[in-house]
Amino acid sequence: MAKVYNWQLGREMTYWYPEVRPQKQFAGIFDVNKCIACQTCTLACKTTWTSGKGQEYMLWNSVETKPYGYYPLGWDVKLLDLLGAQSFAEDGKYAGKTIFESAPAGERVQGWRPTQRDYAYPNVGEDDCAGGVDKGAHLTLPHMNWFFYLARTCCHCTYPGCLASCPRGSIYKRPEDGIVLVDQSRCRGYQECVKGCPYKRTFFNPMTGTTEKCVGCLPKHEAGLAPQCFQNCIGKIRLAGHISKPDKMREDNPMDFLVHVKKVALPLFPQFGTEPNMFYVPPIHAPAEFLRQIFGPGVEAAQKTYFNAHKDMDLAGLLTLFGSTEQIIDRFKREKETMIGWNEKGEEIIRVPITEPTYIREALASARGVLSTNVP
Ligand code: SF4
Ligand code: SF4
Repeated sequence: MAKVYNWQLGREMTYWYPEVRPQKQFAGIFDVNKCIACQTCTLACKTTWTSGKGQEYMLWNSVETKPYGYYPLGWDVKLLDLLGAQSFAEDGKYAGKTIFESAPAGERVQGWRPTQRDYAYPNVGEDDCAGGVDKGAHLTLPHMNWFFYLARTCCHCTYPGCLASCPRGSIYKRPEDGIVLVDQSRCRGYQECVKGCPYKRTFFNPMTGTTEKCVGCLPKHEAGLAPQCFQNCIGKIRLAGHISKPDKMREDNPMDFLVHVKKVALPLFPQFGTEPNMFYVPPIHAPAEFLRQIFGPGVEAAQKTYFNAHKDMDLAGLLTLFGSTEQIIDRFKREKETMIGWNEKGEEIIRVPITEPTYIREALASARGVLSTNVP
């Protein structure tokens, strides 16, 4: 076991392999406040990658309703139970054990393996509210009863549980972009990675006898484009990019700005210890006590920052770039009321007005001499 540094835990931890970071790390940010659970992302992925035999129950991208939704069933609560007490100290340092530190004797990772049935109900808990709303009740923040949608893909973790648990060494992290892949020619289908991935993002294919997982749409990534599930997102909740370690952050990198500078986007279950590279803007209508377990100790501050985003032109402007272009935005800048994005080649790729212009349509269409609206 090696000692590695996990910035999301604010401390060193043990991992099966020494710390090796890629030249750049593929990452994503999801604004949970905007997700409408349309599942367009799920279908965009399914029709691109997992339409073959043995992939019927395979959803590399899925969207579940929290608090009662899971895919596969109970994926997070079962692991949270196994992990034992988890808490973060005042200074943000994690005081509990990670999935690597709590592994039973003789095993590399703490985990559990879902059965076929656990994958059969991806819609369980959909739109189930955390409780009833009494008659006459009105909305406050946070809402007295609530639910929210959690869209999930592979987190292309810095310290992947799947990679650590594979006895064949079939899983690797690409040095050029940090995308985590399974070498199909080495995989023998032992499914240790299915047990070892805390997010349950590796899937065994009984037809091929091997494990398959999200490939970060790598052909698109190599062309500087966002993955299919990002590009097709109806709610424009997603932003793809590259994240740096806090000490290497660049303020004009959209990922670094939202995660490290504004701290408005938080990692998913940081206590698992894999240093996931998918980040979430937590929902402002759900109670912080619940969200803290999912997104860590920065929840209240992130909710506050997001709620006040309209007073912060840089933050508000950056949020308008979500879903604005298929290209990966490497650098951004605000010029008065306009947000501008550049790609890695330094080419300007997007320009978005922060405040939408208002157009008032003439009621009378003068060319035809008729009223063009039904409200004269
Ligand atoms: S989310 Fe799971 S499958 Fe993806 S890199 Fe992390 S441990 Fe591996
Ligand atoms: S496409 Fe976007 S809005 Fe629709 S479910 Fe997926 S993440 Fe949510």
